[in-house]
Amino acid sequence: MNNNSLLSHRKEEPENGVLYIVGTPIGNLNDISQRALNILKKVSIVACEDTRQTKKIMSKFNISNKLISFNKHNSAIKIPKIVKALKEGKSIAIVSDAGMPGICDPGEDITKSVKLEGIDIICVPGACAAITALVSSGLPSSSFVFEGFLPRKQSDREKILLKISKNEKTTIIYESPKRLCKLLKELLEFCGGDREIMVARELTKKFEEHVGNNINEVIELLKDKDIIGEITIVLKGINKKRDLNHDKLIIKKDLNDLINAGLSLSAASKYLAKKNGFKKSEIYNMI
Ligand code: SAM
Repeated sequence: MNNNSLLSHRKEEPENGVLYIVGTPIGNLNDISQRALNILKKVSIVACEDTRQTKKIMSKFNISNKLISFNKHNSAIKIPKIVKALKEGKSIAIVSDAGMPGICDPGEDITKSVKLEGIDIICVPGACAAITALVSSGLPSSSFVFEGFLPRKQSDREKILLKISKNEKTTIIYESPKRLCKLLKELLEFCGGDREIMVARELTKKFEEHVGNNINEVIELLKDKDIIGEITIVLKGINKKRDLNHDKLIIKKDLNDLINAGLSLSAASKYLAKKNGFKKSEIYNMI
């Protein structure tokens, strides 16, 4: 199969010269598919983010195969080698430490390079923390935004937080347990405490838990707790109907920023009124 052949059918897996993107479990090793195991067993090479991690899965299912390391530190050197091996007819599987390669994990760059060479890529789907958290959150799931890890640089972070706070769609965010409290405080500042949220911890594992229901409650429940384990956050979008409370929150924040930058209250209010479609007097009333 290539980009022009809509009617061809695939041969028995794994096929020569094909790159397989293989999803692996995000905790519970029983979540691996039979198809993924077959590919990991039979491909010419398994390129893994961390060979020790992949060995754990392979040994649980009594599989042995040739493993090479492929991660963000060595991808520039490894991609040309993998492309060469594919062109020579080898079949190669890419796996990350957990979940779907390419989703906040190595995989994105190699698929781009391999596609450019006209080599076939087949995804063997598996668990993904974002989707697992989303579907168990009870929040709207037919349309959503995945932000992955938010940027660390404060100005970039605030831009994204503002975008998230105004989004009508459900947002999914990855975060480390160490930085969860900081992120929750930022979400409180940008979205307000009433915004619905679910913090999913240790999905698919023994100590899986879902903490909700809104930002205020989650902050209260988690305060003074030593948070460990893997965390995915699902945040409800803003109500379609204009949310005045949220408008007030953001306008107050913008007003502070403008006044700190040297504008008078009157000039800042005039600017924000125009920008947000309010009268100047309405801005005064809000604050
Ligand atoms: N490729 C993975 C996927 O498909 O979900 C994500 C890899 S990313 C490096 C790791 C982040 O995913 C973690 O920091 C956490 O935010 C989220 N994550 C992974 N496993 C998780 C789990 N079992 N429970 C909750 N979140 C998880």
